[in-house]
Amino acid sequence: MLNCNQVVLREPGDNVLIDSGYCTHRERTLELVAGPAGLEGEPLERLINTHCHTDHMGGNAAIASAHGCRVTIPVGEAKHVNPWTPATGDMELFDHKADPFHFDDTLASGDRFDGAGFEWQVHAAPGHDMEALMFFEPRHRILVSGDALWENGMGIVWPQQGRNPHIEASLETLACIERLAPAVVIPGHGAPFADVAGSLANVRSRLAAFSADPVKNARHLIKVLFMFALLERESMPVADVAGYLAHVPCYGKLNEFVGLEGEALTQWLLPELERVGAIRIASGRVRPMVAA
Ligand SMILES: [Zn+2]
Repeated sequence: MLNCNQVVLREPGDNVLIDSGYCTHRERTLELVAGPAGLEGEPLERLINTHCHTDHMGGNAAIASAHGCRVTIPVGEAKHVNPWTPATGDMELFDHKADPFHFDDTLASGDRFDGAGFEWQVHAAPGHDMEALMFFEPRHRILVSGDALWENGMGIVWPQQGRNPHIEASLETLACIERLAPAVVIPGHGAPFADVAGSLANVRSRLAAFSADPVKNARHLIKVLFMFALLERESMPVADVAGYLAHVPCYGKLNEFVGLEGEALTQWLLPELERVGAIRIASGRVRPMVAA
């Protein structure tokens, strides 16, 4: 959850890595990328991001400094990364961290790039992140989908009363995936999967529910974002939770939909997460029960 998948496309002299994970996992990411599951000691020539959220670009600086590789980001993300500010990757909004990095060039929808001896098409994947891209290899029909489609969901989509442009864009991205008809999807989180029709149906029904009920979406986001915060810290004193939720901007914005005053947000959130087995409360601390 905290760390995205990192996809290595191997071609001697032109090795490509897609996405770099969250910054607190940078040492592990460096090991994995260089190790037997990755480059087996070969150099890395290029790092490409599907989008510039912290769990996908947080390791960019570490990878670039270890490998001296070219860094390529989606063209629409350039304005979010340069200049580097607290708004970059929504760090301030979500209380996330990332190491500042330099990028060398950009990719846009319609571009192509070489990876693992094949030509990859670049497609727009707006919705979760309006500037996101996804990458498709037409010969084997492999899609690297980022957070546009996972086996059992997709990246969070911000709630909105009435028409929600993020949900509308997500539905267009799902329609694009359906047209591409991938044989296998390598998602930004979770295992690769082949039942693309099943995943598309699942995500469409979730988006329909979120569109009809933005409050449900906001509640879902509060839970997901708080779990991310817990995983990053590994645990949090119960006594600090209300202060944390009051201090980090995204919870206040989401609570505008939910409408729980003061301590009521914490008193709803913790039992809710405990009930589904996502957290455990013991000795005055909240601990996540899912893997980072
Ligand atoms: Zn992600």
